[in-house]
Amino acid sequence: MSQHRFELRPVAPSASNWDWRMHGRCRSTDTELFFPCEGEGQGARIRRERAAKHVCEPCPVLTECRNHALITGEQFGVWGGTTEKDRRYLRPPRLGRYRS
Ligand code: SF4
Repeated sequence: MSQHRFELRPVAPSASNWDWRMHGRCRSTDTELFFPCEGEGQGARIRRERAAKHVCEPCPVLTECRNHALITGEQFGVWGGTTEKDRRYLRPPRLGRYRS
């Protein structure tokens, strides 16, 4: 996992604070790279996640994306250069999942 510094800001999702997605590098990448497919083996998952993180690494909205995933409790996929397993370690226990 990349070692970017990030700042958690507890902001509820809304149309306006989703604007960062328009600038994500993954917009021109196959979404299958970022999410597991059924029956994916461990080796394939590791290679896929590594490739997805490679796309995320220079992304101009990495921090916003990672914050979104941590705040909303995204359970699947690579977001902001983190896998679901990475986020379990990064997510502060006091930060509850956002509920509308
Ligand atoms: S950090 Fe990764 S998943 Fe998030 S918008 Fe950028 S490329 Fe996409």
